[in-house]
Amino acid sequence: MTTTLKPRVRFAPSPTGPLHIGGVRTALYNYLFAKQHGGTFILRIEDTDQTRFVPGAEEYIIESFEWLGITFDEGVRVGGDFGPYKQSERKPLYQQFAQQLIDSDWAYYAFDTPEQLDEKRKDYEAEKKNFQYDNSTRLSMTNSLSLPKEETERRLASGQPFVIRFKFPADKEILVNDLIRGEVRINSNLLDDKVLFKSDGMPTYHLANIVDDHLMEITHVIRGEEWLPSAPLHVMLYQAFGWDAPSFAHLPLLLKPDGNGKLSKRDGDRLGFPVFPLQWINPETQEISSGYREMGYLPDAVINILSLLGWNPGTEQEILSIDELVKLFSLDKISKSGAKFDPEKAKWFNHQYIQKQPIANLAKSFDHQLKAKGIHASIEQVERAVAMIRERVHFLTEFWDQGYFLFEAPKEYDQQVVKKRWKENTPDQLRQVLAIISSVQPFNKETAHDEVVAAIQRNEWNMGQVMNCLRLSIVGAAKGPDLFDIIDFIGVEEVNARVEQAIDRLCPEN
Ligand code: GLU
Repeated sequence: MTTTLKPRVRFAPSPTGPLHIGGVRTALYNYLFAKQHGGTFILRIEDTDQTRFVPGAEEYIIESFEWLGITFDEGVRVGGDFGPYKQSERKPLYQQFAQQLIDSDWAYYAFDTPEQLDEKRKDYEAEKKNFQYDNSTRLSMTNSLSLPKEETERRLASGQPFVIRFKFPADKEILVNDLIRGEVRINSNLLDDKVLFKSDGMPTYHLANIVDDHLMEITHVIRGEEWLPSAPLHVMLYQAFGWDAPSFAHLPLLLKPDGNGKLSKRDGDRLGFPVFPLQWINPETQEISSGYREMGYLPDAVINILSLLGWNPGTEQEILSIDELVKLFSLDKISKSGAKFDPEKAKWFNHQYIQKQPIANLAKSFDHQLKAKGIHASIEQVERAVAMIRERVHFLTEFWDQGYFLFEAPKEYDQQVVKKRWKENTPDQLRQVLAIISSVQPFNKETAHDEVVAAIQRNEWNMGQVMNCLRLSIVGAAKGPDLFDIIDFIGVEEVNARVEQAIDRLCPEN
């Protein structure tokens, strides 16, 4: 990168469905790169393929970045000097550039119908060959190179459907200089004459992408590896227009946790983790795909997780704040090979971030869950509860599961624990224990604990049995934080009521 030029980078999603976390990672790396160099990060929506347009997808993209706290300096909804930033609003522009390529003999009109192309492909297949529309076949096809000039003009004037194809020069070595992969070379004979423009007045991705990157003065194209095969065409398009090409950096694929191949929604469904930042409801099928937000991930944790999928700071440090990432990020530490997504590690990260969060933020989230269940506690109570249980929580959504007993009596009792621990003399033991707890006035959890332990020893009861039955009565299961912390929290009267309820439910004859 030249030091004088502030980079201008873009994230350019197509609104064809929910944004995959691979796309979020691409956006994140662009963002980090821009921030580090004091550059500009742009959101451009590439919606030229009307057949793949999905309602709600653009809003989904915007909302995802809002949740993650990734902001754009220019682009759709933000504005800027290089707009409009939505390709469907830039339509007339592309026509003019397509024309420019025709006029300079870098592109041509092709009139082959889909049926004719199909037939051609079949003929080739019959001879066990692959048909490619390229410099070796184009003169045998129906286009402005093979037809007389007047015939081309007649067809255009009569409104016959056409496409404009790029005319790759024959036998030319094309060099893509990639900041991650180094020099990638390919011979133009291997490439097909890609369609750049269609007679519906819409450019294809390739033309629109290059024209916009040029007009928006993009300096670095940082994008997924799946676009690497298109890069030679893009390099040639820049040459054809006589423009300087931006630098390219193709990011490694995100791979599934097990086996080989690209991380897909199916892997997420199969292994129980989301591949989308937010929940997505397919507008056609109503099928629901889970999202990191709804699963109870913190946005900063998601950013940290994604930052390390394909990049590393060169040290062992794993917990990295966004500010640290901005400082440490560098394209030359991006790996060439794909990055395996590890759901267990993702969970670990979220757990770490939950421990680091201010209690007040977590309490807000838990309070929300409580209210949804009709429980209205004071914020001080909720904060106290959060402090007690957060160590056990991996996802924001788990606060209820890990702490319901702080706000309501158990509705059921873990039968395995009942079977193992609840004995005939349990009601009697628990009532004696309760009498001891009640006698500690004013209540003090350490004293109560010590006196209960002393009584159990004095009576030669089984410590595990009594304590577990007390916990079972209060929590409904053999889980939760320190029992005397819980008792302190809910109060002795409530403990009394819960023990009586447990006795009543578990041995009604008492
Ligand atoms: N619209 C393309 C996509 O959906 C953008 C690829 C690029 O960044 O050039 O990923």
